[in-house]
Amino acid sequence: MCCDSKRRFLLLYATQKGQAKAIAEEISQQAGAHGLEADMHCISEMDKYNLETERDPVVIVISTTGTGEPPDTARKFVKKIQDTTLPPDHFAHLQYGLLGLGDSEYMFFCNGGKTVDRRLQELGAQHFYGTGLADDCVGLELVVDPWIDGLWLALKKALLLQKEKEGMNNVVSAVSSSLSTAPHVVHELNLSSEVQNLRLEDEGARNADVLSQNQDAISPVAPARNSEASLVHSIPPVSQSALNVPALPPEYIEVQFQDTHGENPHLSSLISEGTTFEVPVTKAVQLTREDAIKTALLLELDISDTVFDYQPGDAFCVICPNNPNEVEELLHILGLSEKGDDFVCVKVKEGTKKKGASRPQHIPERSTLKFILTWCLEIRAIPKKAFLRALVECTSDAGEKRRLQELCSRQGASDYTRFIRDSNVCFLDLLHAFPSCKPSLNLLIEHLPKLQARSYSVSSSNLYQPGKLCFVFNIVEFPACLTRPVSRKGVCTGWLAELVAPLLHPSKTTLDTKGESSSTVKISIFPRPNNTFHLPADPSVPFMMVGPGTGISPFIGFLQHRQKLREQHTDWEFGETWLFFGCRHQDRDYLFKQLRCFLGNGTLTHLKVCFSRDSSTAEVAPPKYVQDVIRLYAKDVARVLLKERGYFYICGDKKHMADGVSDAVVDILSMEMEADRLEAMKILAMLREEKRYLQDVWS
Ligand code: FAD
Repeated sequence: MCCDSKRRFLLLYATQKGQAKAIAEEISQQAGAHGLEADMHCISEMDKYNLETERDPVVIVISTTGTGEPPDTARKFVKKIQDTTLPPDHFAHLQYGLLGLGDSEYMFFCNGGKTVDRRLQELGAQHFYGTGLADDCVGLELVVDPWIDGLWLALKKALLLQKEKEGMNNVVSAVSSSLSTAPHVVHELNLSSEVQNLRLEDEGARNADVLSQNQDAISPVAPARNSEASLVHSIPPVSQSALNVPALPPEYIEVQFQDTHGENPHLSSLISEGTTFEVPVTKAVQLTREDAIKTALLLELDISDTVFDYQPGDAFCVICPNNPNEVEELLHILGLSEKGDDFVCVKVKEGTKKKGASRPQHIPERSTLKFILTWCLEIRAIPKKAFLRALVECTSDAGEKRRLQELCSRQGASDYTRFIRDSNVCFLDLLHAFPSCKPSLNLLIEHLPKLQARSYSVSSSNLYQPGKLCFVFNIVEFPACLTRPVSRKGVCTGWLAELVAPLLHPSKTTLDTKGESSSTVKISIFPRPNNTFHLPADPSVPFMMVGPGTGISPFIGFLQHRQKLREQHTDWEFGETWLFFGCRHQDRDYLFKQLRCFLGNGTLTHLKVCFSRDSSTAEVAPPKYVQDVIRLYAKDVARVLLKERGYFYICGDKKHMADGVSDAVVDILSMEMEADRLEAMKILAMLREEKRYLQDVWS
C-alpha cells in the first residue's frame, strides 16, 4: 500500500478494453498536482485492498461490456458484494465516487457502473461525489474531463471530513495547510457547499488548474487563411484563443534494442481471458454475390483436435494482427525500418514521474519490434487527447504544433470530436497530416491501447457438425476520404479475407491428391461464452428469431441443433419456430438460401424475409425491414411471448435494427394488450428480466 494517509485515496479500476484503466491512470497522474496520492489497483487485485476496512475515500472507474455486464476483471468483486447475506450497513464506513463508462448505443448503458453503484448504496456506502456516467457514443471525455476536474475538491473535502470524524486534528491541520498553499484551492473551498451536488454539465464552473498549466506559453497563430476548419487547419475563435491544454503526461517507458536473437512470445501469452487454440480453417465460402454492397464470408474451423467446446448462441474471439503495410509504414515514419526484426526490451523508465508506472500487461518484456506493432498495439485506435498532448512535444513545425495543441485543448474540444473522433482518425492518419511530428517508440507503447481480439457469433451446432465451428462476417470497409487518403479494411475482417483468399479461389492454389489445399491456414481463437443467448432449455417452448444480414449467424446454429434434436428424439414435443430475416437484395446477399431446407423438414415453422433495396411492382409495397415484417405478425408475437411464455431473440446491428425491433415489439404489446406504451415498455423490461427477450447485438 502506498501513500501518506492524510492525502491517500484508493483508486480502483475495472477495465475491459483498457479505457477505464487509462482514465484511472490519468486520475492518478493528476492527483500529484493536487497534493493527493492515488493508491491505484485493478479491482480484481483483491489481495491489495480491503473495502471492509477502508477509511480513505474510494474512487472507482468501471466500464461495461457485453449486454450490460461489468468487465471480466470486476466479476469476482461484483459477486462478492452481491452476497445477499451481507448486512445493510456492511459498507457504512465507506465513502466513494464512481465514474461509469458505457455506450448509449447499447441497451443497458453504463450498467457495469450502475450495478456496483446501486449495490454499494444498498450496503450503506456514501457518495462523496456525484456519479459520472460517460458515453462513448458521443465521446467519453464530455463527462470524464469535467468529472475529473471536480473530483479534487470533493476528494479534499472528503479527506477533511474523514479525518475530522476520526478526531485527528493534527492531520486536519496538515491537510488544511496543504490546501491553503495553492490559490485555486481557496476558490475551491468557497465552492465546497456545491460538492455534494456536482452537476457535470456545468463545465465552466470547474476550475481548470490542471489544464491551464501552459496557458501563457501558447500564443495564438496568425488568423486562418481558409474559412473552413479541418484536421490540420483551425478558424476563429479556436485559432485565436489562448489555450488550456492538458498537463504533459510524464514518459514512463524505455525501449532498449538488444543484439540477441530468439523467439517471439506465443500469442496465447497475450491473452488473459482463457486458453487459446490454434485451429485450421477448413472451408471459406463467399455468401454474397460480387455485386453486393458488403461482402459476407463464412469460415469453417476444425476444432476436433482441441477441447474447445461451445453451444449454439455462444461467441468466440479471433486473435488478429495489424495490417503489415501499416506496420511497415509506422516503422518507416519512426525511422526504424531496419530494426523491425530486432529484439527490444521494454521497461519502466528509471526516475519516471508517473506514479505507479508499470509495463503495460499487453506488451511483452522481450520481443521484436514488429511483434509489438503487429500483435500488441491497436495502431488504428483513435488517439486520445493525452496522446495528442505528448505528440506536441515531438512536432517541429510551429503551425502543426499549434494545431495539435488546439485539438487537445478545452477550446478545441469540438474540433477534436469532429475531426478526430467522428472522423475515425488513427495514429497513422495523424502522422500523415502532421509530417513534422516524429514521435519516439516509447510514446506509442505508452498511449496506444491493447490490440483487442475480435468477437464473432458461432454459426453452427456441434451436434450437427461435430468437430467444426463456423462463423460469418462482413468484410468491414472504410472508404478513402479527406483525412484517409487510402481506403482500408477492418483490422480483423480485412486480415481474415486475405488469409482465406486461397480457399475462396482454390484453382489458384496447389491441391494435393485428395483435392485439399496443401497449405493449411490457421487462426488463433479463444472462447467467449454467452450466459443467456441459448436455445430454450425446454424444446416444447416456441421461439422467434430476428436476424437480418450477418445477424442470422447464431440462428443457423440454433436451427442445425434443433434439426438434430428432432432427428434424435422423435418422441419429444417441439414448439414452433419463427425466423425473420432481411437483406438488401434477394439475389445478391440472401446469405443462407438453405433456410428453405429447415422450412422443408419442419425444423423452422415460419420463415419471413424482406429485401430493403429490391424494387417491387406489387400494388402494396412489401415491407423493407425486419421490424416492419414483425408488425405484420403482431398477434403471433403477442401470443408467443405472453400466452405461451416463448422466447424472442434478436441478433445483429445495434444502431439500425435492434432498437427498431424493440420499438415494434413495444407497439405490438401495447396494441394487443390494449395498454399504454409505458405499460408495454414495462412488460418488455420484465421479459428481458426473465431472459425471454434476448439480444446479441454489435455495432
Ligand atoms: P475494425 O478495424 O475494428 O473496425 C471497425 C471499427 O472501425 C468500428 O468499430 C468503428 O469504431 C470504426 N469505424 C467505423 N466506421 C469507420 C470509418 N468509416 N472509418 C474508420 N473507422 C471506422 N461481426 C460479424 O460480422 N459477425 C458476427 O457474428 C459478429 N459477432 C459479434 C459478437 C459479439 C459478442 C461482438 C461484441 C461483436 C460481434 N461482431 C460480429 C463484430 C466483430 O467483433 C467486429 O467488430 C467486426 O468484425 C469488425 O472487426 P474489424 O477488426 O474488421 O474492424
